[in-house]
Amino acid sequence: MSQIEFKNVSKKYGQDSVALEEVSFGINDGEFVFLVGPSGAGKSTLVKLLIREILPSSGVVLFNDRDVGLIPQVELPSLRRKIGVVFQDFKVLKSKNVFENVAIALEVADSSDETIGNVVPNVLGLVGLSDKTERFPSQLSGGELQRLSIARALAHEPDVLIADEPTGMIDPGSSAEVMQVLDKINSLGTTVLMATHDFSIVDRMKRRVIRVENGRVISDKNEGKYNG
Ligand code: ADP
Repeated sequence: MSQIEFKNVSKKYGQDSVALEEVSFGINDGEFVFLVGPSGAGKSTLVKLLIREILPSSGVVLFNDRDVGLIPQVELPSLRRKIGVVFQDFKVLKSKNVFENVAIALEVADSSDETIGNVVPNVLGLVGLSDKTERFPSQLSGGELQRLSIARALAHEPDVLIADEPTGMIDPGSSAEVMQVLDKINSLGTTVLMATHDFSIVDRMKRRVIRVENGRVISDKNEGKYNG
């Protein structure tokens, strides 16, 4: 049984712009999957459909067997806590320090001070930022900023972590650190779905690769390890 399933999903933006056409694939609990393809292929559209930022024009997106398109509005915050998302441009708050940037994700969900006091050091430890909790974003490298945004996405212990081009704006050394963190999170049981067009990373990691072009899945290969 798949944790995530796209069944014949098509997405049109307006009349002319077809972003996805009849896309079908499933992802099991605990998998690490790369979503690759050129710019404009439809990768971000897939991510947005999964977190219900947009709805499909036709077809069904299932998460834990539920039709994401039919989840009531009031339950969307809960869906988005189960699916953590990391973006290329980090989206951290410049006026908050490292600790506060993670804590705020929990505060908006009304977590107790006790929970915040436990979870924040835990996730900052996971991403290797335990010694930088009081730094502000301007005092961090690109790789550290990306690891901070991963920590924030992990605050709610999501079932799935989606990373949309997480290495797009950082140097190769920092990218390697980010990939180590994603690998570790996956080995602890979280499903990881990473959109990228960095083929050197994809080749090195030896995981399942779903290739999208012109809104269609053109190949789906698993040449590597699977922790599911
Ligand atoms: P990728 O993430 O692979 O670069 P996207 O999912 O962003 O691709 O885009 C897929 C296609 O859909 C592209 O042709 C893009 O121009 C189009 N598209 C994406 N978002 C919109 C939008 N809001 N309105 C119109 N067209 C869009």
